[in-house]
Amino acid sequence: MQTLSGDQIAAWLERAAEVLEQEKNFLTELDAAIGDSDHGTNMARGFTAVRARIGGLDRGDVGALLNGVGMILLSTVGGASGPLYGTLFREAAVKAAGAAALDLEALAACLEAGLEGIQRRGKAVPGDKTMVDALGPAVDALKAALRAPAAAGDGGGGPLARALDRAAEAARAGAEATVPLVARKGRASYLGERSAGHQDPGATSCWLLLRSLAATATA
Ligand code: ADP
Ligand code: MG
Repeated sequence: MQTLSGDQIAAWLERAAEVLEQEKNFLTELDAAIGDSDHGTNMARGFTAVRARIGGLDRGDVGALLNGVGMILLSTVGGASGPLYGTLFREAAVKAAGAAALDLEALAACLEAGLEGIQRRGKAVPGDKTMVDALGPAVDALKAALRAPAAAGDGGGGPLARALDRAAEAARAGAEATVPLVARKGRASYLGERSAGHQDPGATSCWLLLRSLAATATA
């Protein structure tokens, strides 16, 4: 597969809803350690709403689809992460406006715009122990794959699926690398030094979303 169509993006979001429901307790436990124990329920609620309402969104225009998803997330996720994930999808939507499908270059541009939107809104920089620490390396991995496509045989699927595998892997590593960090944004920052030693919940949900996307592209 060299592009992701609106149908495939919808399939990703349905898979993501399942994964976030399965991982709800895991995300909530991470948030219990350095936040207020709601990240798992916030994300599961938001993506369950997306799954329920995705049939009413226009899959022929990826921009319209992503914008609709962003609106649903904005109104259902709540917490700090709701507006930030809403921004990710709505900024990506601007880049995807009118497109029937996204190739690797378009997908990288969408996620980069989403990352920039999150950083504009939340003011986090890399190393602040937030979702930026997972999404940033994933965007870098996609851009690196654009410059130097992975050789065939390096994982399954076509170049797009391989690039997404690398991006998901970069997000996983980025999320794990938040463990020793001291939080400088969001609720976890109220803990100061005591926030160190725990993985950031939002970086972890970001990894789960990208892993779901990679799995959809490989399927
Ligand atoms: P809340 O903190 O309001 O309870 P959630 O628990 O749903 O919201 O989400 C917490 C996650 O949101 C954090 O783990 C972090 O990744 C992310 N986050 C919080 N503030 C920011 C910010 N300013 N910039 C980027 N991400 C942030
Ligand atoms: Mg929370």
